[in-house]
Amino acid sequence: MRYYLAIIGGGPAGYTAAEKASKAGKDVVLFEQNAVGGTCLNVGCIPTKSLLFGAKQYYNATHAQKYGVTAENVLFDFAAMQKRKTIVVRKLVAGIKQRLNNEHCTLVNGFAKVVSRQDTMVSIECNGETYEAENLMICTGSTNFVPPIPGIKDNPAVWDSTDALAATELPKSIIIVGGGVIGMEFATLYHELGVPVTVIEAMPSILPNLDPEVVQLLLEKYRKAGINILTSTKVEEIQSDDLPCIKVKANGEWYEAEKVLVSVGRRANLQGLETLRDLELERGAIKTDEFCKTNLPNVYACGDVTAKIMLAHVASRQAEVAVSKMLNAQSPITNDQTVNYLAIPSVVYSNPEIASVGITEQQAAEMSIPVEVRKLPMTFSGRFMVENEGETGLCKLVLHAADHTVLGVHCIGNPCSEFIAAASFAVSKGYTVEEMQQVVFPHPTVSEILHEIIV
Ligand code: NAD
Repeated sequence: MRYYLAIIGGGPAGYTAAEKASKAGKDVVLFEQNAVGGTCLNVGCIPTKSLLFGAKQYYNATHAQKYGVTAENVLFDFAAMQKRKTIVVRKLVAGIKQRLNNEHCTLVNGFAKVVSRQDTMVSIECNGETYEAENLMICTGSTNFVPPIPGIKDNPAVWDSTDALAATELPKSIIIVGGGVIGMEFATLYHELGVPVTVIEAMPSILPNLDPEVVQLLLEKYRKAGINILTSTKVEEIQSDDLPCIKVKANGEWYEAEKVLVSVGRRANLQGLETLRDLELERGAIKTDEFCKTNLPNVYACGDVTAKIMLAHVASRQAEVAVSKMLNAQSPITNDQTVNYLAIPSVVYSNPEIASVGITEQQAAEMSIPVEVRKLPMTFSGRFMVENEGETGLCKLVLHAADHTVLGVHCIGNPCSEFIAAASFAVSKGYTVEEMQQVVFPHPTVSEILHEIIV
């Protein structure tokens, strides 16, 4: 059968595109070798947040004295947390399948390979069958990067995030190589469940792309709580001669733990695309324009495989933009959608959470944008005071110096992940401080900090 659109990869990019194009009445085939939902749903965002939520329940129960509550003999069952995680994932995967089914999208479970391409047709092989389509969308995602450090490859005591999520038992101790988002979320999980954690980060700071002042608050809190965080430290070698003890050499010193988790970034998946020899790449990922089009006619790419910003919500937005562009191809309109990469919110599920959207002061300086920064501790919110005993938190607004347009918002403090969307509206729509001042925020909520900071 000939389809309007063939999509390879059923993660947030792939399933969003499939649903949108099917809804528009187009014949769509979606290829996925594992479960739909991709990394995010199966081995990324959702399972980590499920385990982190379990860990937070335990941690809060054992640290509730400050709220006048004492609980004795509080226990956790890691296997039960894992079981619940699996059930949540299974339900969400089933929900996506149902939605695709409702839209009559053809879902093929198998590894898809592009076998040929002309300007108006692409042929794809999967499970011994050939499928043809007018348009191709590549949403093949990314996989954990394994750095060329001696002793890492094929070492069963060295985990990536997928191994860590699958483990049925907690490690007795862990060294985390890479203090990025994955590294700090797993550091949070293990620390809250009582596992001694060492984080080794090559850069001068953990979470190097975030606002340094916000990150410093997390760093100070985590170090005080007993997480050993080493920065400007490079791992040179890993030895596992004395298992279950694994040794990591970094900056000439040896560190020991039962397991090592490597989280030093991810790389685009390009397998199955070998026949697309003219497909233009950029630093190992597929190069796309503002509409997610590649250099090949009728070939689009969305999500981690483009390595623009490796976040699930970026992937799904790219998919919306790409499908709109594709649908408009026959009857071009002037107001094509694009992705506003300067207004992408992101969250680190540490405790406290970090949430941000838009540019930092540092990025503004690199872009030669004159800015004014306004900031307040989160304690200016009554609700924050009530629910975050002993915490200060921080909220920073980066404004254009000339017209006070909101260019960035950077917060640390629970639950900032839940109100960063309000800041995203401001950044994405280019609101000025004066316009934001007219928005009414509900009281008492932590979100009010966004208002307090500009009154
Ligand atoms: P990352 O790029 O966020 O962080 C990797 C870190 O490893 C960097 O700080 C880097 O300096 C450090 N590093 C690199 N090589 C090193 C070495 N040899 N020794 C020590 N440190 C080294 O990558 P990640 O944490 O692996 O996450 C992968 C992707 O998944 C990211 O794009 C991230 O945004 C995404 N993700 C997002 C969320 C979320 O939105 N909450 C959660 C998890 C992952």
